[in-house]
Amino acid sequence: MKIGAFTITEVIFGHFRLDGGCMFGSVPKNLWSKSIPGDPENCIHLACRSLLIDVGDRRFLVDVGMGEKWSDKQRQIYGIRNTPKESWGFEPRSVTDIILTHLHFDHAGGITSPTPDGGVELSFPHATIHLQRANWNHANNPTLKDRASYLPENVQPLANAKLALYEGTSEVVPGLLVHRVDGHTKGQQWIEVTDGTNKLFFATDLIPTAHHVPLAYHMGYDVCAETLLVEKQAFLERARTENALLCFQHDADTAAVRVVMNDRGQYAGTDGVRSLDL
Ligand SMILES: [Zn+2]
Repeated sequence: MKIGAFTITEVIFGHFRLDGGCMFGSVPKNLWSKSIPGDPENCIHLACRSLLIDVGDRRFLVDVGMGEKWSDKQRQIYGIRNTPKESWGFEPRSVTDIILTHLHFDHAGGITSPTPDGGVELSFPHATIHLQRANWNHANNPTLKDRASYLPENVQPLANAKLALYEGTSEVVPGLLVHRVDGHTKGQQWIEVTDGTNKLFFATDLIPTAHHVPLAYHMGYDVCAETLLVEKQAFLERARTENALLCFQHDADTAAVRVVMNDRGQYAGTDGVRSLDL
């Protein structure tokens, strides 16, 4: 799709699954399972949807999927199915810039790749990596709540990468903005692409799937539910009043919706599209 000078293509780096209870926090199963049923192990199936954004002579990639550094046991637990590199639809060397929404493994795992000697190397060695400074600091010294999501092999090698670290909301290039939010994890950033009229909001883990549009439906993984709810409400209100296309990173079936207020006065998604590329 096109927004002003931006050409935006979705990239599905793979699929995985997480426990449905964890994905919906304090929402009881008899409610969330009406929206998306779990599998026999109570897991719901998720995508790793990234954006490839071309503008001028720069090519931005927003998040990089889970990567290949997984044992057979981990692949089984998380149901990890990676898209083969040949099917990504772009040449990794062509990427000039990578925006990481945050360094949790399902967003940044692909930033490093395994080497034959058992080590890891940067997957995109020439790309500048754009990150909130707060998330970089947090990932290097995570707290008890979400340290299982920050794996050293995805974080430490970035010390040798070209990093562009932001202090809050910033305009990366005109019309491409990153917005800091802290409720899911410290220093997460969601992405806005705009030509002044048409807008795409990439919500990352602020609203991971279309099933998480209702305000109370948020993840048990979130480090601070109260902060997240305030941020999510402000985000949804902007998406609604600015008629932004709200794009989901983890929804395996719905790529994006518009946000409306339903007749019960609650935020809801409408006009769902299966792919940004249709
Ligand atoms: Zn996350």
